[in-house]
Amino acid sequence: TPDIRPLIAGNWKMHGTRSSLSELKAMAEGFAQYAGNADGLICPPATLLHEAAATVRGLAFSIGGQDCHAEEKGAHTGDISAEMLADCGAAHVIVGHSERRTDHGESDETVAKKARAAWRAGLVAIICIGETRDQREAGETLRVLSRQISGSVPDEATAHNTVIAYEPVWAIGTGLTPTADDVAEAHAHLRAELRQRLGEKAERMRILYGGSVKPSNAAELLAVPNVDGALVGGASLKADDFLGIARAA
Ligand code: PEP
Repeated sequence: TPDIRPLIAGNWKMHGTRSSLSELKAMAEGFAQYAGNADGLICPPATLLHEAAATVRGLAFSIGGQDCHAEEKGAHTGDISAEMLADCGAAHVIVGHSERRTDHGESDETVAKKARAAWRAGLVAIICIGETRDQREAGETLRVLSRQISGSVPDEATAHNTVIAYEPVWAIGTGLTPTADDVAEAHAHLRAELRQRLGEKAERMRILYGGSVKPSNAAELLAVPNVDGALVGGASLKADDFLGIARAA
């Protein structure tokens, strides 16, 4: 989209130990050459956040969490609050990733609560939505996206506190991607839904595409109207791949 600085965001999922920080350093240093045109972000596992933030300090590069609890603190064994992520140096947090929705039964309502928790802690919420293969084959994609936008994105969302990530579930980690036309249709639909919900503030809200983005398809996907960056899983683990995608932005 004209005038929106693309965001190239990486989601390491449950990958990475302290030995991975050298790869992160290479990414953040290499990203400097693209920092005039795009913003860079990696969301490592929570165990690495603090050291990851130290690794990228002084570089034009951000660190984020992969999930947060809706509450600030309390009796929630194993969970991590948005405040804790911010305390470790995170600037963003992914909420509602399809793997969280599936593995942990997260509903749109839960995701909306997590987005509010992110804002309370001063984090940008990256709210993920996307249809399953069955839903696409049944011709329900746009209806599903409307329902997810309406349920997962609180009214207080702005272009500053929120990024939307459209990730077709069937494209995540499969090597499959929708056609550029299908991506264009989904993103135009999302922009229209957001405009209807939020008005003016929707115009500059980033809508990322995610699902099997790699260096070889990034240029085509990032050129699609209303695609304002990428959320990258597998190809965010290696500096060469991540930077190959950044080059296309
Ligand atoms: C993701 O996990 O958000 C993702 C898009 O994964 P991949 O790039 O591996 O498909």
